[in-house]
Amino acid sequence: MTRYKSTSMATAILVYLATGALLAAAAQPPRNIILIGWDGAQRDHIKEMIARGELPNLVALSKEGTMVDIDVVSGATDTKAGWTQLLTGYTPGKTGVFSNARYQPIPVGYSIFERVEKHFGDDNIETRAMIGKKGHVDNDPPTTIPYEKWEKQQKKQKAIDKKKAGFGDIPGGVVTEENGVKVVKVPGKPWYNASQNMDMFVNGLRLNEAVGAMALKNLEECKDKRFLFFIHFAEPDHAGHQHGENSQEYTDALKSDDEWTGKIIAKLKELGIYDQTLVYVIADHGFNEGESGHRYAPYVFCASNDKAINRNGTREDIAATVLKRFGLDLTKVEPKLDGIPLDEPAPERKAPAEKPVTEPGKKAKAKKAKAKAAATGTTNG
Ligand SMILES: [Zn+2]
Repeated sequence: MTRYKSTSMATAILVYLATGALLAAAAQPPRNIILIGWDGAQRDHIKEMIARGELPNLVALSKEGTMVDIDVVSGATDTKAGWTQLLTGYTPGKTGVFSNARYQPIPVGYSIFERVEKHFGDDNIETRAMIGKKGHVDNDPPTTIPYEKWEKQQKKQKAIDKKKAGFGDIPGGVVTEENGVKVVKVPGKPWYNASQNMDMFVNGLRLNEAVGAMALKNLEECKDKRFLFFIHFAEPDHAGHQHGENSQEYTDALKSDDEWTGKIIAKLKELGIYDQTLVYVIADHGFNEGESGHRYAPYVFCASNDKAINRNGTREDIAATVLKRFGLDLTKVEPKLDGIPLDEPAPERKAPAEKPVTEPGKKAKAKKAKAKAAATGTTNG
């Protein structure tokens, strides 16, 4: 062996080692992503529970990555607006899902599930959703119903909204006439389009135990495949509405979310796929402090084993993060995402302490009142 050759080989080995080190240093894209939804989990309540050692699985997950604050800065602090925004990356102006009462089906192709199906190809990724709620994370088709029936539904919805969440004074349908009969064309539910392009969409499971059991079964089924799961636990929201944010029932429901999150992670480890899986625990909205509703409850969180997350964010940032991790080129996503991946710099977007007046109904009302005051010469500034 000549001296020249041996130097060349040493260089080759060095280059090889350096390349290997570089590859190892770059974050490996995950094979799988799981979004675990804790419906109605208030950030302050979560932090108090963490301080008392009541959410060990959430803490263990965060220790591998991080836990950051997520604020709601657009759309209602309710379920329809929340999960739509979290799972599309858009503000309501682009999806048409503003609140529980004002919505339309999310436009075809806008959900993260449809985007990854398209990116990898139908057969190369399993998109499965198992959902505790029936209403608000739903996929009913558009219908035409008699006016009287619609009016009754609206009254009921307004009563619910008044007590609980959302904005009551929004129509949610187009009144028209068919063969001389007054009818209302009611839009499909938010997940009507998206669910048709997913491998599984099951809602109305209600209890955490039903959701959790289905999640474990689906993990077994998909252990050898690439997947994106949405696992949605509804019990904290239900307990909060029934017993209030400061109740033991609300705390217990969050403990149950934590236990099931732990079981899901344990299952990933048992199946040997935890290292290839990013897990994000997220929430759609919080609860008004000490109350049994979430009329304005914009403070939630994201806990994850994703080591790259390095800042607080907003609801729409979650979808952007997921799509980036799966290797999608976000500059090519149409329409442009409103969310920014949680490992990229972003302007600070914090929810104000008081609910901003942004609802069209309220704006119109304020305008009317102002006009009236101007006309009568009275004003209150
Ligand atoms: Zn609720």
